[in-house]
Amino acid sequence: MKKYINQQDMKQANAADILFLIRECGQITRKQIEALTGLSWAAVSGITARLIEHGYITECKSAQSTGAGRTPFQLEINGADHFVIGLDVNSSGLRAVLINLKNTVLQSWSHPADFTSRQSLLNGITALTKQVLASAGKRHILGVGVAMQGLVDAKNGISIRLPQCKNWSQVPLAQLLQNTLRLPVFLEHDPNCILYARTADSDADNAILLRVDNGIGMAVMLDGRILDRPGMFELGHTTAVPDGPRCDCGRNGCLELYASQSGMAQLAQMPFAQLAQQARAQDSAAKQRFADMARHLATALCNAAHLLHIPEVVLCGDMWNYNDLFYDAFIQHTARLCPDRPLCFSTIDVENAALGAALIALERSISQLQIGKEDTQ
Ligand SMILES: [Zn+2]
Repeated sequence: MKKYINQQDMKQANAADILFLIRECGQITRKQIEALTGLSWAAVSGITARLIEHGYITECKSAQSTGAGRTPFQLEINGADHFVIGLDVNSSGLRAVLINLKNTVLQSWSHPADFTSRQSLLNGITALTKQVLASAGKRHILGVGVAMQGLVDAKNGISIRLPQCKNWSQVPLAQLLQNTLRLPVFLEHDPNCILYARTADSDADNAILLRVDNGIGMAVMLDGRILDRPGMFELGHTTAVPDGPRCDCGRNGCLELYASQSGMAQLAQMPFAQLAQQARAQDSAAKQRFADMARHLATALCNAAHLLHIPEVVLCGDMWNYNDLFYDAFIQHTARLCPDRPLCFSTIDVENAALGAALIALERSISQLQIGKEDTQ
Protein backbone atom coordinates (compact mmCIF):
# COMPACT_ATOMS: atom_id res chain seq x y z
CA MET A 1 0.00 0.00 0.00
CA LYS A 2 1.08 3.57 -0.48
CA LYS A 3 0.71 4.57 3.15
CA TYR A 4 3.93 3.78 4.70
CA ILE A 5 5.77 5.58 7.29
CA ASN A 6 9.41 6.45 7.34
CA GLN A 7 11.76 5.95 10.24
CA GLN A 8 11.22 9.50 11.47
CA ASP A 9 7.44 9.10 11.65
CA MET A 10 7.80 5.83 13.53
CA LYS A 11 9.07 7.68 16.59
CA GLN A 12 5.41 8.36 17.27
CA ALA A 13 4.54 4.84 16.23
CA ASN A 14 1.25 3.45 17.40
CA ALA A 15 -0.97 0.54 16.56
CA ALA A 16 -2.02 2.14 13.27
CA ASP A 17 1.56 2.47 12.07
CA ILE A 18 2.38 -1.14 12.92
CA LEU A 19 -0.82 -2.27 11.21
CA PHE A 20 0.22 -0.33 8.06
CA LEU A 21 3.64 -1.98 8.24
CA ILE A 22 2.11 -5.47 8.46
CA ARG A 23 -0.21 -4.66 5.53
CA GLU A 24 2.79 -3.52 3.51
CA CYS A 25 4.94 -6.56 4.32
CA GLY A 26 2.29 -9.28 4.11
CA GLN A 27 4.02 -11.34 6.81
CA ILE A 28 6.52 -10.07 9.34
CA THR A 29 7.95 -11.18 12.70
CA ARG A 30 7.95 -9.10 15.86
CA LYS A 31 11.77 -8.99 15.67
CA GLN A 32 11.53 -7.49 12.17
CA ILE A 33 9.02 -4.89 13.39
CA GLU A 34 11.38 -4.03 16.25
CA ALA A 35 14.28 -3.62 13.79
CA LEU A 36 12.30 -1.62 11.23
CA THR A 37 10.63 0.74 13.68
CA GLY A 38 13.26 1.20 16.36
CA LEU A 39 10.61 0.49 18.99
CA SER A 40 11.47 -1.56 22.06
CA TRP A 41 10.64 -5.26 22.18
CA ALA A 42 8.17 -4.54 24.99
CA ALA A 43 6.36 -1.90 22.92
CA VAL A 44 6.16 -4.15 19.84
CA SER A 45 4.92 -7.09 21.94
CA GLY A 46 2.32 -4.96 23.68
CA ILE A 47 0.93 -3.36 20.53
CA THR A 48 0.82 -6.57 18.50
CA ALA A 49 -0.90 -8.38 21.39
CA ARG A 50 -3.62 -5.73 21.33
CA LEU A 51 -3.94 -5.90 17.55
CA ILE A 52 -4.39 -9.68 17.81
CA GLU A 53 -6.88 -9.30 20.67
CA HIS A 54 -8.96 -6.79 18.65
CA GLY A 55 -8.96 -9.02 15.54
CA TYR A 56 -6.80 -6.87 13.26
CA ILE A 57 -3.91 -9.32 12.86
CA THR A 58 -3.24 -13.02 13.36
CA GLU A 59 -0.21 -15.15 14.06
CA CYS A 60 0.95 -17.91 11.76
CA LYS A 61 3.93 -20.25 11.56
CA SER A 62 6.62 -19.16 9.13
CA ALA A 63 6.54 -21.05 5.85
CA GLN A 64 10.31 -20.58 5.59
CA SER A 65 11.22 -22.62 8.64
CA THR A 66 14.58 -24.38 8.32
CA GLY A 67 13.84 -26.76 11.13
CA ALA A 68 16.80 -25.47 13.10
CA GLY A 69 15.87 -23.83 16.39
CA ARG A 70 12.57 -22.21 17.31
CA THR A 71 10.50 -20.92 14.42
CA PRO A 72 9.35 -17.36 15.07
CA PHE A 73 5.69 -16.61 14.53
CA GLN A 74 4.84 -14.40 11.59
CA LEU A 75 2.19 -11.76 11.94
CA GLU A 76 -0.28 -11.11 9.13
CA ILE A 77 -3.51 -9.20 8.54
CA ASN A 78 -6.69 -10.83 9.80
CA GLY A 79 -9.16 -10.79 6.89
CA ALA A 80 -12.07 -12.22 8.87
CA ASP A 81 -13.02 -9.73 11.57
CA HIS A 82 -13.14 -6.17 10.18
CA PHE A 83 -14.57 -4.82 6.93
CA VAL A 84 -15.02 -1.62 4.93
CA ILE A 85 -17.72 -0.55 2.48
CA GLY A 86 -16.96 1.35 -0.73
CA LEU A 87 -19.70 3.22 -2.57
CA ASP A 88 -19.59 4.82 -6.03
CA VAL A 89 -22.18 7.52 -6.81
CA ASN A 90 -22.23 7.86 -10.58
CA SER A 91 -24.88 8.99 -13.07
CA SER A 92 -24.54 5.62 -14.81
CA GLY A 93 -25.50 3.82 -11.55
CA LEU A 94 -24.69 3.33 -7.89
CA ARG A 95 -22.24 0.59 -6.96
CA ALA A 96 -21.00 -0.81 -3.67
CA VAL A 97 -18.36 -3.28 -2.53
CA LEU A 98 -17.53 -4.91 0.79
CA ILE A 99 -13.82 -5.56 1.37
CA ASN A 100 -11.79 -7.04 4.21
CA LEU A 101 -8.52 -5.80 5.67
CA LYS A 102 -6.63 -7.82 3.04
CA ASN A 103 -8.23 -5.66 0.31
CA THR A 104 -10.26 -8.64 -0.92
CA VAL A 105 -13.67 -7.81 -2.41
CA LEU A 106 -16.14 -10.16 -0.71
CA GLN A 107 -19.35 -8.92 -2.28
CA SER A 108 -20.57 -6.23 -4.67
CA TRP A 109 -23.92 -4.58 -5.40
CA SER A 110 -25.41 -2.19 -7.92
CA HIS A 111 -28.46 0.03 -7.81
CA PRO A 112 -30.04 2.38 -10.38
CA ALA A 113 -29.09 6.03 -9.90
CA ASP A 114 -31.90 8.59 -9.86
CA PHE A 115 -30.32 12.01 -10.40
CA THR A 116 -33.62 13.86 -10.92
CA SER A 117 -33.46 15.59 -7.52
CA ARG A 118 -31.31 15.89 -4.43
CA GLN A 119 -33.78 13.83 -2.42
CA SER A 120 -34.14 11.02 -4.98
CA LEU A 121 -30.37 10.66 -5.20
CA LEU A 122 -29.94 10.74 -1.42
CA ASN A 123 -32.70 8.11 -1.09
CA GLY A 124 -30.88 5.86 -3.57
CA ILE A 125 -27.52 6.23 -1.82
CA THR A 126 -29.05 5.52 1.60
CA ALA A 127 -31.07 2.55 0.32
CA LEU A 128 -28.02 0.93 -1.26
CA THR A 129 -25.84 1.47 1.80
CA LYS A 130 -28.50 -0.02 4.09
CA GLN A 131 -28.79 -3.01 1.74
CA VAL A 132 -25.03 -3.52 1.98
CA LEU A 133 -25.11 -3.24 5.78
CA ALA A 134 -27.97 -5.76 5.95
CA SER A 135 -25.94 -8.21 3.82
CA ALA A 136 -22.90 -7.61 6.01
CA GLY A 137 -24.93 -8.88 8.98
CA LYS A 138 -22.98 -8.90 12.21
CA ARG A 139 -19.65 -8.18 10.53
CA HIS A 140 -17.79 -5.27 12.08
CA ILE A 141 -17.65 -2.37 9.61
CA LEU A 142 -14.83 0.12 10.20
CA GLY A 143 -16.14 2.78 7.82
CA VAL A 144 -17.66 3.71 4.49
CA GLY A 145 -15.84 5.34 1.57
CA VAL A 146 -17.87 7.23 -1.02
CA ALA A 147 -16.59 8.01 -4.53
CA MET A 148 -18.42 11.07 -5.78
CA GLN A 149 -18.69 12.76 -9.16
CA GLY A 150 -18.69 16.54 -9.54
CA LEU A 151 -16.89 18.99 -7.30
CA VAL A 152 -15.95 17.44 -3.94
CA ASP A 153 -14.54 18.86 -0.71
CA ALA A 154 -13.09 15.61 0.60
CA LYS A 155 -11.61 17.15 3.74
CA ASN A 156 -15.01 18.34 4.98
CA GLY A 157 -17.06 15.55 3.41
CA ILE A 158 -19.07 17.95 1.24
CA SER A 159 -20.32 17.30 -2.28
CA ILE A 160 -20.14 20.87 -3.56
CA ARG A 161 -21.67 20.50 -7.01
CA LEU A 162 -23.09 17.70 -9.15
CA PRO A 163 -23.95 19.07 -12.61
CA GLN A 164 -26.21 16.10 -13.48
CA CYS A 165 -28.43 16.76 -10.41
CA LYS A 166 -29.84 20.25 -10.67
CA ASN A 167 -30.66 21.14 -7.03
CA TRP A 168 -27.61 19.40 -5.61
CA SER A 169 -25.41 22.03 -3.99
CA GLN A 170 -23.13 22.01 -0.93
CA VAL A 171 -24.50 18.66 0.30
CA PRO A 172 -22.77 17.50 3.54
CA LEU A 173 -22.97 13.92 2.30
CA ALA A 174 -20.46 12.38 4.72
CA GLN A 175 -22.31 13.81 7.73
CA LEU A 176 -25.75 12.82 6.39
CA LEU A 177 -24.65 9.23 5.81
CA GLN A 178 -22.81 9.14 9.13
CA ASN A 179 -26.01 10.18 10.93
CA THR A 180 -27.99 7.43 9.19
CA LEU A 181 -25.44 4.63 9.33
CA ARG A 182 -23.69 5.43 12.62
CA LEU A 183 -20.35 4.73 10.92
CA PRO A 184 -17.42 6.94 9.90
CA VAL A 185 -17.93 8.08 6.28
CA PHE A 186 -15.16 9.35 4.02
CA LEU A 187 -15.97 11.24 0.82
CA GLU A 188 -13.58 11.41 -2.13
CA HIS A 189 -13.63 12.62 -5.74
CA ASP A 190 -14.17 9.60 -7.99
CA PRO A 191 -11.10 9.99 -10.26
CA ASN A 192 -8.97 9.93 -7.09
CA CYS A 193 -10.64 6.67 -6.04
CA ILE A 194 -10.07 5.02 -9.43
CA LEU A 195 -6.43 6.10 -9.46
CA TYR A 196 -6.00 4.84 -5.90
CA ALA A 197 -7.45 1.45 -6.84
CA ARG A 198 -5.06 1.34 -9.83
CA THR A 199 -1.91 2.18 -7.90
CA ALA A 200 -2.58 0.84 -4.37
CA ASP A 201 -0.91 -2.51 -4.91
CA SER A 202 1.68 -1.46 -7.47
CA ASP A 203 5.05 0.22 -7.26
CA ALA A 204 3.82 3.20 -9.29
CA ASP A 205 4.41 6.45 -7.44
CA ASN A 206 3.43 8.86 -10.20
CA ALA A 207 0.45 8.73 -12.52
CA ILE A 208 -2.21 10.86 -14.16
CA LEU A 209 -5.71 9.42 -14.44
CA LEU A 210 -7.88 10.76 -17.25
CA ARG A 211 -11.57 9.89 -17.16
CA VAL A 212 -13.60 10.83 -20.23
CA ASP A 213 -17.34 10.19 -20.51
CA ASN A 214 -20.08 12.79 -19.97
CA GLY A 215 -17.46 14.87 -18.21
CA ILE A 216 -13.68 14.98 -18.08
CA GLY A 217 -12.09 14.05 -14.76
CA MET A 218 -8.45 13.97 -13.81
CA ALA A 219 -6.52 12.75 -10.78
CA VAL A 220 -2.81 12.96 -10.04
CA MET A 221 -0.56 10.77 -7.92
CA LEU A 222 2.80 12.41 -7.20
CA ASP A 223 5.47 10.67 -5.13
CA GLY A 224 2.94 8.11 -3.92
CA ARG A 225 0.33 10.62 -2.78
CA ILE A 226 -2.86 11.65 -4.52
CA LEU A 227 -2.93 15.44 -4.77
CA ASP A 228 -6.28 16.59 -3.54
CA ARG A 229 -7.99 19.92 -3.15
CA PRO A 230 -11.54 20.91 -4.25
CA GLY A 231 -11.50 22.00 -7.87
CA MET A 232 -7.92 20.89 -8.45
CA PHE A 233 -7.11 19.38 -11.87
CA GLU A 234 -10.41 20.36 -13.50
CA LEU A 235 -8.90 19.61 -16.90
CA GLY A 236 -12.37 19.64 -18.52
CA HIS A 237 -12.70 23.31 -17.68
CA THR A 238 -9.38 24.44 -19.08
CA THR A 239 -9.66 26.42 -22.29
CA ALA A 240 -9.59 24.55 -25.58
CA VAL A 241 -10.93 27.36 -27.81
CA PRO A 242 -10.61 30.89 -26.33
CA ASP A 243 -13.59 32.31 -28.20
CA GLY A 244 -15.67 29.14 -28.03
CA PRO A 245 -19.22 28.76 -26.76
CA ARG A 246 -20.15 29.33 -23.12
CA CYS A 247 -19.69 26.38 -20.76
CA ASP A 248 -21.88 25.63 -17.71
CA CYS A 249 -18.95 26.71 -15.51
CA GLY A 250 -19.19 30.27 -16.87
CA ARG A 251 -16.03 30.17 -19.00
CA ASN A 252 -15.86 30.00 -22.75
CA GLY A 253 -14.59 27.19 -24.96
CA CYS A 254 -13.85 24.65 -22.21
CA LEU A 255 -12.26 21.33 -23.18
CA GLU A 256 -15.33 19.49 -21.90
CA LEU A 257 -17.44 21.03 -24.69
CA TYR A 258 -15.15 19.61 -27.37
CA ALA A 259 -14.00 16.34 -25.86
CA SER A 260 -16.66 14.93 -23.50
CA GLN A 261 -19.67 12.97 -24.72
CA SER A 262 -22.22 15.47 -23.37
CA GLY A 263 -20.24 18.47 -24.68
CA MET A 264 -19.85 16.98 -28.17
CA ALA A 265 -23.57 16.12 -28.19
CA GLN A 266 -24.42 19.68 -27.16
CA LEU A 267 -22.30 21.24 -29.92
CA ALA A 268 -23.56 18.80 -32.56
CA GLN A 269 -27.15 19.18 -31.30
CA MET A 270 -27.78 15.45 -31.35
CA PRO A 271 -27.31 12.55 -28.90
CA PHE A 272 -23.69 11.37 -28.64
CA ALA A 273 -24.55 7.85 -29.84
CA GLN A 274 -26.08 9.34 -33.00
CA LEU A 275 -23.00 11.51 -33.56
CA ALA A 276 -20.79 8.42 -33.27
CA GLN A 277 -23.05 6.53 -35.66
CA GLN A 278 -22.77 9.34 -38.23
CA ALA A 279 -18.97 9.41 -37.88
CA ARG A 280 -18.86 5.65 -38.48
CA ALA A 281 -21.05 6.22 -41.57
CA GLN A 282 -18.32 8.59 -42.84
CA ASP A 283 -20.31 11.80 -42.34
CA SER A 284 -17.63 14.47 -42.73
CA ALA A 285 -19.01 16.91 -40.10
CA ALA A 286 -19.29 14.16 -37.50
CA LYS A 287 -15.81 12.84 -38.35
CA GLN A 288 -14.44 16.34 -37.95
CA ARG A 289 -15.88 16.57 -34.41
CA PHE A 290 -13.96 13.43 -33.41
CA ALA A 291 -10.81 14.73 -35.12
CA ASP A 292 -11.14 17.98 -33.14
CA MET A 293 -11.83 16.00 -29.97
CA ALA A 294 -8.62 13.95 -30.42
CA ARG A 295 -6.56 17.10 -30.97
CA HIS A 296 -7.99 19.10 -28.05
CA LEU A 297 -7.83 16.18 -25.60
CA ALA A 298 -4.24 15.31 -26.58
CA THR A 299 -3.17 18.95 -26.25
CA ALA A 300 -4.68 19.37 -22.78
CA LEU A 301 -3.29 16.04 -21.56
CA CYS A 302 0.20 16.73 -22.90
CA ASN A 303 0.20 20.17 -21.26
CA ALA A 304 -0.80 18.59 -17.94
CA ALA A 305 1.79 15.79 -18.26
CA HIS A 306 4.45 18.35 -19.13
CA LEU A 307 3.56 20.64 -16.21
CA LEU A 308 3.50 17.77 -13.72
CA HIS A 309 6.45 15.95 -15.33
CA ILE A 310 4.48 12.69 -15.24
CA PRO A 311 4.34 10.59 -18.43
CA GLU A 312 2.33 7.67 -16.97
CA VAL A 313 -1.34 8.08 -17.94
CA VAL A 314 -4.23 5.82 -16.92
CA LEU A 315 -7.29 6.10 -19.18
CA CYS A 316 -10.86 5.29 -18.18
CA GLY A 317 -14.43 6.20 -18.98
CA ASP A 318 -16.98 5.34 -21.64
CA MET A 319 -15.38 7.53 -24.34
CA TRP A 320 -12.63 4.94 -24.82
CA ASN A 321 -15.31 2.51 -26.06
CA TYR A 322 -15.38 4.71 -29.20
CA ASN A 323 -11.65 4.30 -29.85
CA ASP A 324 -12.20 3.45 -33.50
CA LEU A 325 -13.30 7.07 -34.07
CA PHE A 326 -10.42 8.97 -32.52
CA TYR A 327 -7.76 6.89 -30.74
CA ASP A 328 -5.13 6.68 -33.50
CA ALA A 329 -5.31 10.43 -34.06
CA PHE A 330 -5.19 11.05 -30.29
CA ILE A 331 -2.02 8.92 -29.91
CA GLN A 332 -0.39 10.60 -32.92
CA HIS A 333 -1.06 14.04 -31.41
CA THR A 334 0.41 13.04 -28.05
CA ALA A 335 3.51 11.58 -29.78
CA ARG A 336 3.96 14.83 -31.69
CA LEU A 337 3.38 17.05 -28.62
CA CYS A 338 5.53 15.03 -26.18
CA PRO A 339 8.48 13.91 -28.36
CA ASP A 340 11.09 14.13 -25.59
CA ARG A 341 9.17 12.09 -23.00
CA PRO A 342 6.46 10.01 -24.71
CA LEU A 343 3.34 9.32 -22.67
CA CYS A 344 2.88 5.77 -21.44
CA PHE A 345 -0.77 4.65 -21.43
CA SER A 346 -2.68 2.00 -19.48
CA THR A 347 -6.39 1.54 -18.84
CA ILE A 348 -8.69 0.75 -15.91
CA ASP A 349 -12.41 0.08 -15.59
CA VAL A 350 -14.38 2.89 -13.89
CA GLU A 351 -16.10 0.24 -11.76
CA ASN A 352 -12.94 0.36 -9.64
CA ALA A 353 -14.19 3.65 -8.13
CA ALA A 354 -16.10 1.77 -5.39
CA LEU A 355 -13.03 -0.37 -4.62
CA GLY A 356 -10.81 2.72 -4.50
CA ALA A 357 -13.28 4.44 -2.15
CA ALA A 358 -13.21 1.38 0.11
CA LEU A 359 -9.39 1.30 0.10
CA ILE A 360 -9.21 4.98 0.97
CA ALA A 361 -11.77 4.50 3.78
CA LEU A 362 -9.75 1.53 5.03
CA GLU A 363 -6.56 3.56 5.13
CA ARG A 364 -8.26 6.44 6.95
CA SER A 365 -10.01 4.09 9.39
CA ILE A 366 -6.67 2.48 10.26
CA SER A 367 -5.08 5.93 10.67
CA GLN A 368 -7.62 6.66 13.38
CA LEU A 369 -6.94 3.47 15.34
CA GLN A 370 -5.95 4.27 18.88
CA ILE A 371 -5.39 0.89 20.51
CA GLY A 372 -1.91 0.31 21.83
CA LYS A 373 -0.81 3.92 21.69
CA GLU A 374 0.10 3.98 25.35
CA ASP A 375 2.61 1.17 24.81
CA THR A 376 4.89 3.50 22.87
CA GLN A 377 5.25 6.04 25.64
ZN1 LIG B 1 -16.23 24.92 -18.27
